[in-house]
Amino acid sequence: MKAQGFAIAALAAVAVATAADLDFLRPEIIPEPRELRYESSVAVRIDGSTAFAVTCPDAAAAQWVKDKVAAWFGARIGDVALASAQGAPGGGDEGYTIEAKPGRIAIGANSIKGVKHAMHALRQVAERESVGVKLKGYWLPALSVKDSPALAFRGIHFCWFPECPVSLIERQIRVAAMYRFNYVVLESWGVFRSERHPFLAVRDAPLTVKEARRLAGIASDLGVTLIPQVNVYGHAAMQRARGGKHTTLDMHPECQPLFEPGGWNWCLSNPDARQVVRDLVAEIHEAFGNPPFFHIGCDEADPPTCAMCRAARPYSGLVMEHIKDIAGLLRKRGARAMMWHDMLLEKGRWKPFYSHGDENAPQMLDALPRDIVICDWYYGSDSGGHDKTAGTSVTGNYPTLEHFKSKGFDTLTCPWRERKGIVAQAKYAHEHGLFGMLETIWHHYRGMEFGRMVEIAACGAWGTERRDAGRRGSPFATNWRRCGWDAGITEFSETGFLDRQVTRDVDD
Ligand SMILES: [Zn+2]
Repeated sequence: MKAQGFAIAALAAVAVATAADLDFLRPEIIPEPRELRYESSVAVRIDGSTAFAVTCPDAAAAQWVKDKVAAWFGARIGDVALASAQGAPGGGDEGYTIEAKPGRIAIGANSIKGVKHAMHALRQVAERESVGVKLKGYWLPALSVKDSPALAFRGIHFCWFPECPVSLIERQIRVAAMYRFNYVVLESWGVFRSERHPFLAVRDAPLTVKEARRLAGIASDLGVTLIPQVNVYGHAAMQRARGGKHTTLDMHPECQPLFEPGGWNWCLSNPDARQVVRDLVAEIHEAFGNPPFFHIGCDEADPPTCAMCRAARPYSGLVMEHIKDIAGLLRKRGARAMMWHDMLLEKGRWKPFYSHGDENAPQMLDALPRDIVICDWYYGSDSGGHDKTAGTSVTGNYPTLEHFKSKGFDTLTCPWRERKGIVAQAKYAHEHGLFGMLETIWHHYRGMEFGRMVEIAACGAWGTERRDAGRRGSPFATNWRRCGWDAGITEFSETGFLDRQVTRDVDD
């Protein structure tokens, strides 16, 4: 009864506000919802008089909504009315509905996942009221949303370089959740401060066990699962090849036996090297709270250079034994290994798709345990390669995806920065029943391209297309800023997505 009383009071208040000819923009929700209706001249305030009602089987949903209304909108609302039933017609466990009318915001979902999606959508829509010097409150247009994702696995891959402050990574996680990715693969580039093997990190590395737990907790609360990554084969330098840096060897020449001469691959003939890798995988998995997936890298490995690995016949047998061993370790820990695809395809056969394996790659693939998730990266604008011609079809034919799928693997398509490629691969994934999509960002954290990649991928994985709002940097800059508020950013250098506005670096 109390909630109903509040609702009536709010209706009266809005009647006054709407007299002033309101004209709300079309709500910009990323990813674009499947169904959205709104009334541009009808305001719904989010304040203490707003009645929130949630229909969801999970009893924890009501308190979660109340907490987020306080954190995101600064509004102290009464208890959220909860009906313990399925609240979204269809749409699986991530489907949701929103009915926002003056005085009352109702969310329907089939699990708390859907409730979180709905709240992330509301946060993006809410606009500050146009009164006062200091914020008085938020309102949004009356609206109705019915929504659900196309892909069950919607991932985004971020690299944590030693140059990246914790606040940047936290914001990436927060924006991923806001844009309804449900997995974030977080690859440590020498930043995980291993307690068992400290030489595997740069000095004062920011990703401590405590920090990993904190970030995993933030992610989980917001609806996203963190998946740590350790490269167990190539990329053992844990720094970019073109920079000539090596996390371990630059400071610890005594550790040379762990790596192939040159430092790019782990030395798989050395049992101690393999044990160090096992230790690192277990330690990071534990630090992140034992998530259900773990990425083991395995892309772009070089041919062996040490005398023992070169004598292994075939070297691919050694590699396969190592990968199976790591996947088995993860299986015992309750996780599935994920790996990049390219060493599992013989070089040259699959052009223009990426393949770096030798003639034994097909046997390696056949011997691989089928619980490993294959992450097939392809960065062209469509299946024909890097064709940037306007008007080219965005629906393509992706034979490598079909190849892995036909071998019985759950397969993710992994685009990068080409808009058409992201759209085409996402579409292909849901039209062909793939396991999902993993958007890769790599080191491209800066400028408008960053936001564009995140937004297009979020929409693609959700099964809708990004509309172009045509406004500079919007809405990504706004949403990124909101995530900065949540992360408690106070330093100018940590705002925005360019650390230097005056170009000093060579842009590659
Ligand atoms: Zn070796």
